[in-house]
Amino acid sequence: MVRALVVEKDEESGKTRAGVQDIAESDLPEGDVTVAVEYSTLNYKDGLCIGPGGGLVRRYPHVPGIDFAGTVEASDDPRYAPGDKVVLTGWRVGEAHWGGYAQKARVKADWLVPLPEGLGTRQAMAVGTAGFTAMLAVMALEDHGLAPGQGPVLVTGASGGVGSVATAILARLGYEVAAVTGRPEGADYLRGLGATQIVPREDVAETVKRPLESETWSGCIDAVGGAMLARVLGQLKYGASAAAVGLAGGADLPAKVVPFLLRGVNLLGIDSVMQPYENRLRAWERIARDLPMDRLEAMVTPATLEDLPKLGADILKGQVRGRVVVDLT
Ligand code: NDP
Repeated sequence: MVRALVVEKDEESGKTRAGVQDIAESDLPEGDVTVAVEYSTLNYKDGLCIGPGGGLVRRYPHVPGIDFAGTVEASDDPRYAPGDKVVLTGWRVGEAHWGGYAQKARVKADWLVPLPEGLGTRQAMAVGTAGFTAMLAVMALEDHGLAPGQGPVLVTGASGGVGSVATAILARLGYEVAAVTGRPEGADYLRGLGATQIVPREDVAETVKRPLESETWSGCIDAVGGAMLARVLGQLKYGASAAAVGLAGGADLPAKVVPFLLRGVNLLGIDSVMQPYENRLRAWERIARDLPMDRLEAMVTPATLEDLPKLGADILKGQVRGRVVVDLT
């Protein structure tokens, strides 16, 4: 038997309920690699899938958990052998396919990435989809010309999972980091991650009034979207880029095109789910190299499967700080 967080749906009322259960290993979905999951984590999407699903979950009963790290137990694929340490993020695992909130997961070999040298399974889940995405955003900004010494890089939703890891990576790489937060009481936490400037959320929350404001940011990693991203576009320096990662503040983009036309700024879309394998490898190797592990540890809240229904509701309300690591050992 395998211990798992299972979400069930009452067909009559349409309501879902999440609880910890023992499931038979034979109930795991089809796949060519079985992984003994050691750690999983919590992302915004997990909050949706633990709750009513937000349209992401296809079938019930469902095991959520959009990412996990563990050790290969059995493999029908020549790329993996028992004992290999692996990490999985994306590919709609935890949404359309059963995910990491179980002691075992059965998945396609194509979805796995071998853990890079120097990164353990717990550390990989302290990073998780949120941190992996933060690294993809850093790489995209660098590919578009960002380098240290050009002025502060803005990180929005900075106390969240993506924002916390983005702040720590950028600071480690020598960037000045301006962290936008709606939680001023968390300023010490953000300074501890390496932020050099704290920007209150209300300073960038208002809808665009003037399409161009003073050229302030050399780049932006944006987890918030909505009016905030629109506003930031008009504050970017000439030729700078904003990496659009999330929509914690809304899916609309009430922006003017003027910053694109008069300042040559770029809006870079970041998707972690369907990211090609080579880029995944590159990102995980950069994480092992460029993410300060002591700062990563300072972001971690440990949790168990039993804690997840409450934590899932909390993350949807923007009340989770940093990264949650779920222990399945
Ligand atoms: P978190 O909930 O951990 O972080 C989001 C942060 O945004 C909060 O901590 C808060 O930070 C801020 N925030 C929340 N609500 C609002 C609001 N209404 N207005 C302004 N700021 C707000 O989530 P994650 O970091 O895990 O994910 C962030 C976003 O990125 C989500 O939308 C998620 O779906 C998306 N995402 C996208 C991925 C991709 O592949 N593109 C992959 C992973 C995540 P503070 O309190 O500091 O203000």
